[in-house]
Amino acid sequence: MKKIILLLLIGTTAFSCKNAQSVASKDNSDPSKYIKAISEKSLKTMLYVIASDEMEGRETGSKGQKKAGLYMIEQYKKSGISFPKGATDYYQHIPAAFLNARRNENLPDSENIWAYIEGSEKPDEVLVISAHYDHVGIKNGEIYNGADDDGSGTVAVIEMAKAFAKAKKQGHGPKRSILFLHVTGEEHGLHGSRYYSENPLFPIANTIADINIDMIGRRDVEHAQTNNYVYVIGADRLSSDLHNIVVAQNEKYTKIDLDFKFNDPKDPNHFYERSDHYNFAKHGIPSVFFFNGVHEDYHQKGDEPEKIEYDALTKRTKLAFSIAWDLANRENRPVVDKK
Ligand SMILES: [Zn+2]
Repeated sequence: MKKIILLLLIGTTAFSCKNAQSVASKDNSDPSKYIKAISEKSLKTMLYVIASDEMEGRETGSKGQKKAGLYMIEQYKKSGISFPKGATDYYQHIPAAFLNARRNENLPDSENIWAYIEGSEKPDEVLVISAHYDHVGIKNGEIYNGADDDGSGTVAVIEMAKAFAKAKKQGHGPKRSILFLHVTGEEHGLHGSRYYSENPLFPIANTIADINIDMIGRRDVEHAQTNNYVYVIGADRLSSDLHNIVVAQNEKYTKIDLDFKFNDPKDPNHFYERSDHYNFAKHGIPSVFFFNGVHEDYHQKGDEPEKIEYDALTKRTKLAFSIAWDLANRENRPVVDKK
């Protein structure tokens, strides 16, 4: 009898303490619950649509790309995530003249797509999470579905937004604002991100960082033994803080092998200059790029959703989410301490 009473007492006390705490303060120190909300099933469902033949390879400005865009917007609407404050809809329209200014490829008008969650404490400071949703279209009658490039990043960004929206509903919304930015025209020369960086909706000075995701669903030959890795590129180029955050969050939550090989400025591939984060870094915004490296289906018709390793896609999305969580909630924005 005695023992049971004691246990009951302890149980009651613990319960009431926990309750009081969650009501009293918006403690965002532990993202575990929302990292868990990043769902392999959901990523897979969305990617099979984004990288389906129906989207015709998502060539910049094409009917197929616009269709993919509508599907993406539908996902945001379903999760109650709006377009950004100051915009009139989910589109940032980019005129053909801009897309063809550097090298005329006769591209039609196209759109970046954006969604937004406003911060609770520092709404004017904005974290950007980016991925390009265009691919190379149809060549010689074959549809290039671009499941890895960059269907994987596209669905990762949406899934992260959904987890942040869930957290917000439960009283744990981000303290800073987050812009979820799906850029167009990447395959033709990073046009969409360049357009955003030259026509930003939120001042560049208030943009605290960019997390860019481009190809995180496959593995390269260097990692034939395991898919438990990701290349991290650019984090330390402008900000030691950003690099340290990436390492610390991975150690705490995802424990993926972080491969910094392509971060070497002397690496002949120059991946740092080859995806959309570069247009943010150019403007002095701390930026990190997550990437799985190239493989036999890179820019080939075989880049299909059947070949995606969904466990790897999920883990890498969780890593990016945990970093975004820290950036959006930490006391101070990452300091730029390098040129
Ligand atoms: Zn790409």
